[in-house]
Amino acid sequence: MYNCIMESKQKYIYKGAVHIHTKLSDGTGDVYSVAKAAKKAGLDWIIITDHNYYDQEEGIINGVYVIKGQEISPKSCNHYIAIGLNEVIPLNDNPEVYVNEVRKKGGFGFSAHPDEGYICDNRGNIYPRKNSNHCIPWTDKNIKPDGVEIWNWFSNWADNLDDSNIFKLAYAYLFKHNIVTSPSKLTLNWWDSLNRESDKIVPAIGGVDAHALKFYRYIIPVTVFPYLTCFKTITNHIGLNEPLSKDFQTAKAQIFNALKSGQNIIMNRNTYKDLPEIYASDGENKYFCGEKIKLNKNCKLKIKAKNDMNVCLIYNGIGIEKVLSDNFEIPITQSGKYRLEISYRNKGFLYTNPFNFEE
Ligand SMILES: [Zn+2]
Ligand SMILES: [Zn+2]
Repeated sequence: MYNCIMESKQKYIYKGAVHIHTKLSDGTGDVYSVAKAAKKAGLDWIIITDHNYYDQEEGIINGVYVIKGQEISPKSCNHYIAIGLNEVIPLNDNPEVYVNEVRKKGGFGFSAHPDEGYICDNRGNIYPRKNSNHCIPWTDKNIKPDGVEIWNWFSNWADNLDDSNIFKLAYAYLFKHNIVTSPSKLTLNWWDSLNRESDKIVPAIGGVDAHALKFYRYIIPVTVFPYLTCFKTITNHIGLNEPLSKDFQTAKAQIFNALKSGQNIIMNRNTYKDLPEIYASDGENKYFCGEKIKLNKNCKLKIKAKNDMNVCLIYNGIGIEKVLSDNFEIPITQSGKYRLEISYRNKGFLYTNPFNFEE
């Protein structure tokens, strides 16, 4: 039988970076230099998340939608990226208090670097990272956030950093991209379990945790991981039905809605620069991840990439199909949440939010 895919729902894809610190907390750049770096890195939007601070400037700056959020940051654990608020949320020893407070105020939050400091190998063994003196995990996984930052560029680098001698330390700085490998399996498992327990999609974001820290060597400032470097790595690709509005407030709502519903593909552009074409189809329309799709006999997931990639399909949290391919199509016959993980040359590359097929 001939299936005509009409592809009537064109998607507009916009690239953005989340989890950025400026000089208003422990970063070193001001909002203008950060926006300039974002533009240079090809980003359309960014969300600035200074620690326990909210009064940054926002708007369209250097052609980039610069949005303010905050990272609710107690000293040693339970950091929470919050968006959609007009005030700073007070700290509390119990994260449940500020998770609820963010919801009550009409905002939305993502648990930040929830497994920082713990490494989970391919066999599922868990061990603390070598330089474990400064890690900030989410301590009680029974406290459920609205969403999860499944990949944090700086935490991934720090978790894999071996600073036991000067040569290993130098390697980690010079070849930083080699040790940013993939999201923690612990985090992905937690995220999957949150999605299994919820009818709605519990969305994921990827964060850069950019600070552009400055150190002084012989009075010469050396910037470690400049904003531009970070902005060319873990990127959120949101899929919209309409182009981003020229009105800042409307565009901000569009971006928030996409992040809250999971219409977002997380990808490390340093691993591979092009976003593969990834969508679900019901035989008539194309759907982005995060969208509800009514199950019928023509439903399928499709991926088109320019190179062979390792594609893993995860159904309700369980890996069900693995292929090495540049062109992949799988029929969907059962309702539930499906997501895709793609690795390229043995490195984590791309993570979709779930596609939600419903009866
Ligand atoms: Zn943090
Ligand atoms: Zn941070």
